[in-house]
Amino acid sequence: MSIELSRRSVLVAGAAALAASRFLGAPAARAQDAPTAAVLAYPRKVGELEIVAISDGYFEFPPAFFVNIPKEELDAALTAAFIDPAVPPRVGVTAHLVRGGGRTLLIDSGTADLFGPTLGRVPAALAALGVAPEDVEAVLLTHMHIDHLGGLLAADGAPAFPNATVHVNETDLAFWAGDEAAAKAPENFKPFFARAKATAAAYGDRVIPFGADGEVLPGITSVALPGHTVGHTGFRLASGDAEILVFGDTASSAAVQFSHPEAGLAFDTDPAQAAATRARFFDMVATDRTLVAGTHLPFPGIGHVGRSGDAYAWVAESWQYM
Ligand SMILES: [Zn+2]
Repeated sequence: MSIELSRRSVLVAGAAALAASRFLGAPAARAQDAPTAAVLAYPRKVGELEIVAISDGYFEFPPAFFVNIPKEELDAALTAAFIDPAVPPRVGVTAHLVRGGGRTLLIDSGTADLFGPTLGRVPAALAALGVAPEDVEAVLLTHMHIDHLGGLLAADGAPAFPNATVHVNETDLAFWAGDEAAAKAPENFKPFFARAKATAAAYGDRVIPFGADGEVLPGITSVALPGHTVGHTGFRLASGDAEILVFGDTASSAAVQFSHPEAGLAFDTDPAQAAATRARFFDMVATDRTLVAGTHLPFPGIGHVGRSGDAYAWVAESWQYM
């Protein structure tokens, strides 16, 4: 399954480059020319901070992407969520803009032109929000999969955010941008490693690795959530008494992985570790009633994790007027 995705990614990259490249033009042109659906942003206050969920678009998510769940249980979970198991649902890719205290940061960066015309909308959304690429001071990566780091490079391979530092877990950086794992990777997975390596090279000494469970930037701490990738990380943002925990791909399916935390994805580097992490994470944020945000949950993907029987439920928060 993962092979299918990576093969498709490679195939669509060339054809999509032209369509996606228009999002890399001048900000004014992007804002005027982009279709309405290209700008989907949801701002929310967290203490003094503003966190804005930004949609990069969507991809299709066939049931074959799930692992470690019997087909009958998968079909039942999808059906209970009013999703036809025979029709792959559209799953979003969300990045997060964080503003406050004189800083402008991004958590993850979208896909740029790597996944075709249904994605790559982060640059248009940033332009619409009045954020120029030069304004972004730091990009924090939950992990180094291409749907999270793709937006770091412009079409010419230069940094898309020329003034930004890039913060990434040290273990993930060594795995994806190093040579050892890449050499052993199946041919179809090599583009993932190549893009991570090219991104690290383009940003050079502005790539700043961090360890597990420590301060990344003032008010932002890393939360180790390994399994989806070796160094997959959540970010806890605190301001006054308020906080939000951005959890990346710890759970990517609202319909399936809360009721079945054991269900993994074909792209998990270690599905068993990912499942153990997911169960531990759900228990923690359900107990602490922590506000959380995910990359692939239905936009804007902000809410809470509730308990439901022996498992959990995604509780999307209602629209926050501001
Ligand atoms: Zn992802």
